[in-house]
Amino acid sequence: MKVTCPFCDSYIEADENMNCPNCGGSVSAEVKEAEDLYRRQEEERRINEEKTRQKQAEDERDERLFEVIIAAIASVFGGRHGRGLLRIILNAVTGRGGRR
Ligand SMILES: [Zn+2]
Repeated sequence: MKVTCPFCDSYIEADENMNCPNCGGSVSAEVKEAEDLYRRQEEERRINEEKTRQKQAEDERDERLFEVIIAAIASVFGGRHGRGLLRIILNAVTGRGGRR
């Protein structure tokens, strides 16, 4: 873990049990703090990734549901034109005009 020595300000690679190679001062608190920060950032990154995955799964589910609804309604009215028209109407109603 790279830390700045609080005694001599050198930027050094150290672990928790090490002293600064330049001045011999203890850097264990700095290393601990840097490691805590690193762990928190990793945890945050993991949570964000999980959220992104969930959002994608929800979007895909919405997309499939949307297709099913269009197919169901189109089958009632029948034909290519009915299907295209329904898509336009549904896009307008659900505010999805900009998507696919
Ligand atoms: Zn030092």
